[in-house]
Order: sequence, then C-alpha cells, then structure tokens
Amino acid sequence: MSNAASAPLLPGATIGVLGGGQLGRMMALAARRMGYRVVVLDPNARCPTAQVSDGVVVGALDDVEAAKRLAAQVDVVTLDTEHVPSPVLEAIERVVVVRPGASVLATIQDRLVQKQFLDRLGVPQAQWASVGNPSELAAALVKLGRPAIVKARRAGYDGKGQVRIDAGDGVAELAKLRGEPAVAEALVLFAREISVVLARGVAGEVRIYPIAENVHRRHVLHTTRAPAPMPEDARVRAEQLAVRIAEALGHVGMIAVEMFELPGGELLVNEIAPRTHNSGHYTYGACATSQFEQHVRAVCGLPLGDPRPLTGAVMVNLIGDLWTDGTPRWGEVLARADARLHLYGKDAPAPGRKMGHVLLLDDDTDRALANAEHLIAALAPQR
Ligand code: AMP
Repeated sequence: MSNAASAPLLPGATIGVLGGGQLGRMMALAARRMGYRVVVLDPNARCPTAQVSDGVVVGALDDVEAAKRLAAQVDVVTLDTEHVPSPVLEAIERVVVVRPGASVLATIQDRLVQKQFLDRLGVPQAQWASVGNPSELAAALVKLGRPAIVKARRAGYDGKGQVRIDAGDGVAELAKLRGEPAVAEALVLFAREISVVLARGVAGEVRIYPIAENVHRRHVLHTTRAPAPMPEDARVRAEQLAVRIAEALGHVGMIAVEMFELPGGELLVNEIAPRTHNSGHYTYGACATSQFEQHVRAVCGLPLGDPRPLTGAVMVNLIGDLWTDGTPRWGEVLARADARLHLYGKDAPAPGRKMGHVLLLDDDTDRALANAEHLIAALAPQR
C-alpha cells in the first residue's frame, strides 16, 4: 500500500514488527506506553520483543506466509532488522503500509547495492571492489592493497561475515566467507567512528539527534558517547551526508549512518542501518524523545518528537562474555545514581551476543567514559 503521507495512525492502532530482537523490544515498550498495540513476527515465541508485545506470529523472517499472517492483524508494519528479505516486504506491501518500504531494504541489505547507491549519490566511502570469485579477489587486493576487509554482501552485522586480509594471508582466509559473494574494502585508518541517527517522517521532515562517537571492540559496538565533541562545521557536514542519504532512499522511520572520521577531518560513510540503532540507545534516557518513540511516531505518521539532549551520556554494551563466570554483579550498576540498566530478556548469554546496555548520564562525557570502563570491570563476577 502507498507509503505516501496518509491519515496518521493514532494510539489504539496496531504496529507489526518484523524481527523480535532488542530494537523491537524497546520500540514495543515505547509504543505500548503511548497506547498502541504491538504484534511481532519471530521464530522464537519468547524473543525479547514478544515478551513485551500484545501478540506474536511464530515464523521465520523469510517466510512470506507468516509475514502475511502478521500483515492481516496490523495497521502498519516496521522492522527491527534490515535482513528481512525485500521480496517478503514487497509481498505484504500490497495489503498493508510498510515503513520503511521494500525499496529501502533492497538498497541497503546487499552491501554491493548499498555501495553503488552511495557512489551514485557522490557520498565519500572507503575504496571498494566487488568480489564474486577468487580472480576478482586477487584483482581487488591489487587495487586496494593490504590489509583489506572482505565483507559478505548479505546478512552481515556486528562484524559477522567479515574477514581481514593482511600482508601474509593467503586467499584461504576467505574460506570463512564460505564462497559467498562479497565486497572488499581498503582498511581505513580512521581517527574515530561516529554515527548520525535521525528520523524522517512521512512528509519528509527530519529530526537529527546529537552525533554519537562510537568505539567498537572485535567489530561490535562497545561504547557510544553523545554528543560527540566536534567542531560545528564537521557536525554540519556529517548531518548533511546523513540527510542526503535518508532523502535519496525515500526512507521513513529512524535511520543510522555510520561514518569514519579521518585524521584530517574527512568523513567516509561506512554503513547505513534503516532502523533504530545501537549507537542511538543513549537517546532512551538522555533525549527528550527516544529513538524508539521517534520511530513509532515516524511510521505512524505522527508529528515527530523533540530530539534535544537533556544531558550528556555514555552507553556501554553488555556483551554475553560478561556472563562467562556467572551473573554480573548488578548491584554495581544499581547503586549508581547516574546509571540506567537495560537488559533485553535474552536467556542464553553467548559470547559476542548483545544482552543489554548501561547508560551513564553525565554532562562530563570524558568522566562518563572512564566510569563506563570501571563499571564493566566491576560487573564481572568474582572467580
Ligand atoms: P561493519 O559491520 O561494516 O559496520 O564493521 C564493523 C566495524 O568494523 C566498523 O565499525 C569498524 O570498526 C570496523 N571496520 C569495518 N570496515 C572497516 C574498514 N574498511 N576499515 C577499518 N575498519 C573497518
């Protein structure tokens, strides 16, 4: 159905969510607070989103029939992951409003198509080459040099499906990608990573959150600080890039644009996520309107909320490794007046799995970053 501006879906309407992870969970909490009903599609009836929803359709995210069962129960469909195959969205777009639409997903979920889209827009990114077979890889390594990073075109997130090829590595390293079509990128020696998270509404209006400064560990987000300390002109350049991308996609909802900032200040776009984003979690607690409420507002065609920060903040992810020696010492977080604990209701804390996060509210974000590291060390159970 048309995604053009139509009558707003007011509280009492039902929102369908494709994918039941933590993003859907926090969106569902925001939606239900505002009086919406939420139904989620996920293979796991007890997934993080289902735990806080009105209903669940149990099915795989590539199951068109299951998606149609969800569509039949709801007024609008949105998603918690961009890895729902775009043909599934196309199938349900015939019967229900889907935001963001299938065309946005088709551009984003294949890294090759995403890079071609960014090149067409004239958006700066790392040098890259398409890698469909071993001879293309050899050519790519000549063009890009080593180290290079090879990323599977599809279903890669949090560094999954990525292989770094260093000077001495043979092409055998690529076996880790199991021969999947990929793109190769030159290794970027960035000064830091930032992201712009913003909302775009049905009439094209945009609300931009304070820029986030992100530190990754083993390809997974470790900390975000916001607002990122940066000169005005750099902030404006970053925002303009993100807005240009959101507009060119015709996106509706939250979107995150991750960027590398080079030592000279130049910005390269790394990745686009057409949804709420881990680097925007700080908005839930630190901003007048969280990214989750904002996403609900955008996909329901409501006026967008105020993204203004009420305080500086640092978010630190709680990764499954923290559970290796038992339950983390929650008392360490709960005793802090500046800390907010978020746990996602996942019952199996596997290494590398995002289990929750802690938000530290502090206008002095250098101090908050130091406190975040102390806290993570203090949370580890004593042997
Ligand atoms: P991605 O899944 O593409 O967002 O990659 C996850 C993280 O890996 C990024 O946030 C960076 O920390 C790192 N990374 C990915 N691509 C590159 C690159 N071309 N050069 C340097 N670091 C990279």
